[in-house]
Amino acid sequence: MSSKVPPIILNNGVEMPQLGFGVWQVPDKEAERAVATALDAGYRSIDTAAIYRNEKGTGKAVASSGLRREDVFVTTKVWNNEQGYDATLRAFDASLKKLRLDYVDLYLIHWPVPAQDTYVDTYRALEKLHADGRARAIGVSNFLTPHLRRLLDETSVVPAVNQIELHPHLQQHQSRAFHAEHGIATEAWSPLGQGKGLLEVPAVVAIARKHERTPAQVVLRWHLQLGNVVIPKSVTPSRIRENIDVFDFLLDDEDLAAISALDEDRRLGPDPAAFGAN
Ligand code: NAD
Repeated sequence: MSSKVPPIILNNGVEMPQLGFGVWQVPDKEAERAVATALDAGYRSIDTAAIYRNEKGTGKAVASSGLRREDVFVTTKVWNNEQGYDATLRAFDASLKKLRLDYVDLYLIHWPVPAQDTYVDTYRALEKLHADGRARAIGVSNFLTPHLRRLLDETSVVPAVNQIELHPHLQQHQSRAFHAEHGIATEAWSPLGQGKGLLEVPAVVAIARKHERTPAQVVLRWHLQLGNVVIPKSVTPSRIRENIDVFDFLLDDEDLAAISALDEDRRLGPDPAAFGAN
């Protein structure tokens, strides 16, 4: 099946599919199968990370997909204990090898770990990888505004992306506004709220019924219409297909407002200001 996901244009002109496939918590063997299913369903963007321990399976699925390298957008991330200029360059080489690639499309710093105070040096390594053509775009994940400000002040390349926890219960207004002001794309992790209570919220269920869609599809549509990049995860083939089948309907203003009213500023994951500190 050919891809039907529209791209967004990153701040360096690189195109990134607005919807991709996340593989957090998917064991390496299963990742190979899941990524193969996703590519077959039309996904053209895969989000992995060194710490997910499934770069090998991901790379294998990409290699055996029959797709041209330039038609798949691969993201991976450097883990906290490999931050620092030299360590990051080494970590990147190890990730590329596991992925069986000679470049990635997007390389991210996974968490800022401010207590460690290494993210600026780490980012300089990313700038080198970008300059060398080994990462087509570079960015960050879980960065709060002060961390982004520091990068903008002390480094040269504006991050293309900040991948943050974002779903209707945690809408991240302040970060999104900051990103928009500086040309940084907002990528939503746990876009479905990890499939927990969010998909049973009556307002979401009602909108799904109205459009004859599923709650997951409605939540993904909300993200897309806001302009977020999304990377829903599933290992269930029918759900993998369901989650990409979201480009032939539109939520109206009333639907969008009803979902936007669900914000509780509630994180499922850790607070980036503290995470990773010893
Ligand atoms: P998600 O919001 O994508 O939810 C995934 C879960 O929702 C699945 O495990 C399943 O239980 C359920 N689900 C999926 N599709 C469904 C459907 N159609 N109907 C009903 N239930 C469904 O959560 P996630 O996996 O935490 O996040 C997605 C991706 O974001 C990850 O795989 C990873 O790539 C990325 N991520 C990044 C970070 C980071 O720190 N950068 C952290 C967490 C996740």
